[in-house]
Parts: sequence; C-alpha cells; structure tokens
Amino acid sequence: MDDIDCATERSEVFTGAALHAVLSRVTAGPLSNGVCQSCQDAIEPERLRANPRARLCAGCAAEEEAHRLRRRRCGPHD
Ligand SMILES: [Zn+2]
Repeated sequence: MDDIDCATERSEVFTGAALHAVLSRVTAGPLSNGVCQSCQDAIEPERLRANPRARLCAGCAAEEEAHRLRRRRCGPHD
C-alpha cells in the first residue's frame, strides 16, 4: 500500500507543476499571429523563433524602441 500512496503523491506533484506551466503560458499572452501590429507586414521568422509573442516586425520594434528612448530623454514636454 505504501508504494501506491507514494506514487499517487508523486503524480499529484507532477500535475500541479504541469498546471502551473500551462497557467503561466496563458498569462504571458497569446502567441503572435506572425503579422506586425504596426505595419501589417509579416514578422521575420527568426524574430518569431526568438520571441513567439512578438507583435512587431524588427523595423517597427526598433522604431518603437527609439521613440521610447527619445520620450524618456525629453520627459513629459516631448
Ligand atoms: Zn512592422
């Protein structure tokens, strides 16, 4: 009987870990549909491989990053 109890406990731990993995994947947001949300061009495949949730193509992401840096430098008077 002890063996069975032990096996049951182990499988419950595994189920909990698997459930947690699924939940954290869901809260991280949906996967990209492969289309840039800004220019509607296809996102580079290597970019999607690196980040399956990328919403912008490399060009738009760089533009957005540059814009963000500029705003940070100029503050609210941008
Ligand atoms: Zn784009």
